Amino acid sequence: MILNFWAHDNIEFYCINKHKKPVKMTIMNGQTGQFYACPKYMLRDEAHPEGHDADERACSNRLSVIDAEQIVLTLSKEVEDDLVNGIMGDYTGTIIHVKQIDAKVLDYSDSKIKIGIVNRRAIKD
Ligand SMILES: [Zn+2]
Repeated sequence: MILNFWAHDNIEFYCINKHKKPVKMTIMNGQTGQFYACPKYMLRDEAHPEGHDADERACSNRLSVIDAEQIVLTLSKEVEDDLVNGIMGDYTGTIIHVKQIDAKVLDYSDSKIKIGIVNRRAIKD
């Protein structure tokens, strides 16, 4: 079976930048288009229930949709190459590097793929 990666919302991106548990990134609308952001960039309030507490650092980890697509394409290429070779891999733990982004497959099944993200360029500023 070839996964149609963008068919459903079966791919979720998680921030794994020094959080105790992966934090699901949310899609945001920026001036240059959509991107995924760590909800802990914002201070927690009524509008941002997933935000960071006052004594917690704001997290600036983010991922452009284009880079997200590149990560998914890289992973899907790997999966397809394996299929061609008759390999049914378990991709949990697979690491993908795109630009300065470290992506790690946290969970992989036919129905859901969770990818952890650390964008080293974004968290530097
Ligand atoms: Zn974060």
